[in-house]
Amino acid sequence: MNHDDLRDWSKRAADWAHAYHATLRDRPVRAPLVPGAVARHLPAAPPETAEPMETIFADFERIVPDGMTHWQHPRFFAYFPANAAPASMLAEQLANAMAAQGMLWQTSPAATEVEQVMVDWLRQALGLPDGFTGTLHDSATTATLSAVLTMRERALDWRGLAEGLSNLPRLRIYASAETHSSVDKAVRLSGIGQDNLVKIPTDTRNSMQPGALAEAITADRAAGYLPAGVVLCAGGTSIGAFDRIADCIEVARLHSLPVHVDAAWAGSAMICPEFRDLWAGVGGADSIVFNPHKWLGAQFDCAVQFLRDPGSQIRTLGLRPAYLATPGDEEIVNFNEWTVPLGRRFRALKLWFLIRAEGLEGLRARIRNHVAWAEDSARAIGALPGIEIVTEPSLSLFTFAMAAGDAATEALLNRINDDGRIYLTPTRTAGRLAIRVQVGQFDCTAEDVAMIPQVVGELLDK
Ligand SMILES: *Cc1c(COP(=O)(O)O)cnc(C)c1O
Repeated sequence: MNHDDLRDWSKRAADWAHAYHATLRDRPVRAPLVPGAVARHLPAAPPETAEPMETIFADFERIVPDGMTHWQHPRFFAYFPANAAPASMLAEQLANAMAAQGMLWQTSPAATEVEQVMVDWLRQALGLPDGFTGTLHDSATTATLSAVLTMRERALDWRGLAEGLSNLPRLRIYASAETHSSVDKAVRLSGIGQDNLVKIPTDTRNSMQPGALAEAITADRAAGYLPAGVVLCAGGTSIGAFDRIADCIEVARLHSLPVHVDAAWAGSAMICPEFRDLWAGVGGADSIVFNPHKWLGAQFDCAVQFLRDPGSQIRTLGLRPAYLATPGDEEIVNFNEWTVPLGRRFRALKLWFLIRAEGLEGLRARIRNHVAWAEDSARAIGALPGIEIVTEPSLSLFTFAMAAGDAATEALLNRINDDGRIYLTPTRTAGRLAIRVQVGQFDCTAEDVAMIPQVVGELLDK
């Protein structure tokens, strides 16, 4: 295949993509789950000789789409969305066409400079103070790992990087039980260890108790541990819990601990000023992550980390070997020093296209609709016989269960997902199995959302 062929096949792929998207509502949202069903279609060994693209493309059409869970389906209400607005997809095509690697400013000045401006556009869009700079990562997991590594090194006065952790004091990180498993992963991978992630009790609103945080820090200090930082939850994955950000940051400040806020999902909603009370005080954080690739509409992958002062993170993650030396290193930003991987995709381009093509007003209108429709849906589901709302909507996320117990809830969820018109996923909260509903797919309409109570009602006592 050469670049002339690529042009022709790209047009064919664009036509395929258009037809795929136009007929998504006709497909079951979740792929029918039969392990091995896709692999069975593929030869076990790679071909020795070249095959015509016609055959490869035909096999793609025959094998792949039916084996996909359709994340861009307007009735995808599972997990959180991975929205891909058309403008962001177009930008990804252009970034793919140039196929650059933006590890240093000079390896693609536009990639670095568009990223700097887009991080600042997002900062303004979320109403964060103008002291914050930041960077793009692949995922919130990587951003949180970067923040926790920085907490570790700051607490150890940068001795861990050189000496390793064996002879240094045991570090402690604090978070609530509502934080995402990426926080657990970060303490594991950073060598701090799962046992040193202290899960602070939550109150009746599922928020970390600031008093309990203060007590835990004080008790750990007295016991010879070295507290290193606090990770706060702004929109938890299970039920959308929010810590009391301002109060918890105040405790952290009193104890001179840095704070990282995980708003991977809910951060998108903060482009709407009326939701910002949920994370009031966030401007006092040292690091904040949110995923434009979730609710906002930037095609996966794209996570932004805002940093009050990037110096500590650069000191933790940055290395300057001779083969990466750049003239003028002092005035320019080399973003690989802010992140874990060296190589970097040109992710900022899709933000530029997305924000311009939709406008902040367009993006806000979607999120406001999703929140309102989720509230309607929760009311309608709560009115069905035998159903209980387990957690009320937090933004556009709520959970429900069968009053009859976990077995009945699980059976209902299986019926819903086998039916295929909508897709919902489970969680456990307060010791109980619950079905999560999140409204947030980029193309969903009020009618799509109204189908949730309709389908649940139809399948209640099958
Ligand atoms: C989705 C999610 C994450 C993980 O996001 P990745 O970008 O997939 O790593 C972390 N925290 C919260 C609250 C999330 O919802």
